[in-house]
Amino acid sequence: DLKKREVARLIREQLPGRVGALLHDFGRIADDQGLKVFAVGGFVRDLLLGEPNLDLDIVVEGDGIAFAEAFSREQTCRVRSHEKFGTAVIVFPDGFKVDVASTRVEYYLEPAALPTVETASLKLDLYRRDFTINTLAIVLNSARFGELLDYFGGLRDLREKAIRVLHNLSFVEDPTRVFRAVRFEQRLGFTIGKQTEHLIRSAVRMGFLDRIGGPRLLNEIIHILEEPRPYPAIARLEELELIKFVHPALDIAGDTDEILERAMRALNWYELLYTGQPCHGWMVYFLCLIRDLDEDAVNGICERLAIPARHRPLFTEQRRLAQGVLQRLQAFARRKLKRPQNSEIHRWLLPLDTEVLLYLMARLENEEARSWISLFVTRLRDQKTLLSGDDLKSLGVPPGPRYREILDELLQAQLDGKVATREQELEFVARKYLKNGKPSRSRG
Ligand code: ATP
Repeated sequence: DLKKREVARLIREQLPGRVGALLHDFGRIADDQGLKVFAVGGFVRDLLLGEPNLDLDIVVEGDGIAFAEAFSREQTCRVRSHEKFGTAVIVFPDGFKVDVASTRVEYYLEPAALPTVETASLKLDLYRRDFTINTLAIVLNSARFGELLDYFGGLRDLREKAIRVLHNLSFVEDPTRVFRAVRFEQRLGFTIGKQTEHLIRSAVRMGFLDRIGGPRLLNEIIHILEEPRPYPAIARLEELELIKFVHPALDIAGDTDEILERAMRALNWYELLYTGQPCHGWMVYFLCLIRDLDEDAVNGICERLAIPARHRPLFTEQRRLAQGVLQRLQAFARRKLKRPQNSEIHRWLLPLDTEVLLYLMARLENEEARSWISLFVTRLRDQKTLLSGDDLKSLGVPPGPRYREILDELLQAQLDGKVATREQELEFVARKYLKNGKPSRSRG
């Protein structure tokens, strides 16, 4: 079995030096306080798998908040604590965070009553977790530093590459775990264990998934769609008959695989551009998944998932605009000979959010049509006229709402390469909007 020394070596070799040092500091401070402290969960799982993960979760046997505060008296950091849950977050000056939980949970029976304190052991705390591979703990106290605690067969399941629940009621207790099972399975390249799959299928059959509240269901969907490669997880959800729980009309027919793969390439491409403009990857994939649904069904999905009001326009107005633009682009792509003018591309795409633009790239099979969108994102979107309203005024154009129109027209001319310099812009305006066709500084 994995020896203390081997785990200590993984900590030394796989983690940045300061994280390793931090683990030792936690152990030392817990020693001083007479507490036991452990690293747990996904962090331990990924350390043993050799996967990078710096989301450090610490469990203290005893009062985790007092522990975090003792730590902060010694090191430069802030502590945010949540008394109600017995948890704290240690935040370092550079933003690095560590989550601290207590095995001591306080239940306030009535507002006025004194808290009844229940001390649960580490083992009980780990028993509440989702899968065996997430129940491994590493002792951080100095004398036992690196000792691996494996109460529920997590190490065996890591070796067998199996996702297994701890007990038969796991999915009844928390049905969101079915989505987590699929996410971990696909991300890690593991397989859901036979009995666990059987339990998922029963939970589906018995309708337990309907009990998941909208925000939690959305949260799981977002997590899946933000994995580096969501398609295989989506296919697995379909296979387990989980997709239809999101909405009965949702299914992943025919070319969903190709579309999601193109969405992934579009997102990777966009990320490499470093535009500084954020883009919600999950929304791009989500637009792909709902592409063939009618508006009633989409509204139904938005309701079921409790999609926040600020995101709704993307799935309503923006989606509607996108379908129109998609048809135009496809029509152009089919004609082959004539590509749209830059000014046309600009006019069609300007009202669309980045998520919708990437969605369109995913929908277009034609490579040239996709290149029109990438041209828009990289060059056309930010193009501006060289002249401003002040310049129009000095030219002698009478001020008024026409300024907007003139500058728009000028921008179109610039997009289509008809004007490039300031002189050419001045000339363009004079020719079209001044009687004698000459710039004049005396008028207006
Ligand atoms: P990720 O890399 O996706 O963050 P993670 O394993 O760190 O994976 P989190 O969602 O951050 O997962 O959760 C942290 C830990 O909390 C997990 O290791 C898991 O054991 C536990 N956990 C999270 N959600 C549940 C749940 N629904 N039921 C039981 N345990 C859960």
